[in-house]
Amino acid sequence: MKHQARKRFGQNFLHDPAIIQRIVQTISPQPGQRLVEIGPGKGAITFPLLAACKHLEVIELDRDLVQPLAAKALAFGELVIHQQDALRFDFAALAGGERLRTVGNLPYNISTPLLFHLIAQSDSIQDMHFMLQKEVVDRMAAGPGNRDYGRLSVMIQYHCKVEPLFRVGPGAFQPAPRVNSAFVRLTPWSQPRVVVKDAACLATVVRQAFSQRRKTLRNTLKGLLPEQAIRATGADPSARPENISLEQYAALANQLADKI
Ligand code: SAM
Repeated sequence: MKHQARKRFGQNFLHDPAIIQRIVQTISPQPGQRLVEIGPGKGAITFPLLAACKHLEVIELDRDLVQPLAAKALAFGELVIHQQDALRFDFAALAGGERLRTVGNLPYNISTPLLFHLIAQSDSIQDMHFMLQKEVVDRMAAGPGNRDYGRLSVMIQYHCKVEPLFRVGPGAFQPAPRVNSAFVRLTPWSQPRVVVKDAACLATVVRQAFSQRRKTLRNTLKGLLPEQAIRATGADPSARPENISLEQYAALANQLADKI
């Protein structure tokens, strides 16, 4: 039966062999590694990965894709299919104390919540290789002063090193998305880049700061931190949230942690 791409599942299937090869070479899967693919779809990258590492776990929400994937996989190796929502998937439980390599051409409609779900479990992850909307990769990689710099940049960079690798045009996918894409590597830090006493405080400060990007820190953080506490970190209370570095957000989060 022919499978119709479903928009609600963010289905844009890769069909450019050169891009598929480049992705697989970049990931460089090795036998014995714990690879997990999110959203295998019809298996464009699944089967080359499986051929290389012989055992692969995949998480796919669309149940109509499960049986064809299982049938085709037999020729390549052992494929374990979790017919589940990746947004609710317990990666730490699957890792069982080891570290997973997660990969995927992600459904763009849920990419931001999925990235937050993954970084919350980054202790169980060795690295992540994802195809995403190019704009999302730009936001993840942006530094202070850049118009793309925001909550996603600060929170991802707190957890991971971000390496945008290459751009991919809409023609590589079927159906073609309306946006450009980019392939990115995220590597959780083995040692934290900044010291944060309570990660929940960092999440709170960053969310609140970027809730109104055009306002000053003094205004956006009102109710959370007094101006004096902002000054104590060395940050300028009249600065805008887009000009505050990760180190300064960490210091602001530590002020909040001391207060509560
Ligand atoms: N990897 C395939 C490829 O490159 O051709 C498919 C990529 S397509 C952009 C995204 C895939 O993620 C689809 O197979 C879709 O069904 C699946 N998907 C969508 N939402 C999901 C979710 N919440 N959990 C797991 N898989 C999901």
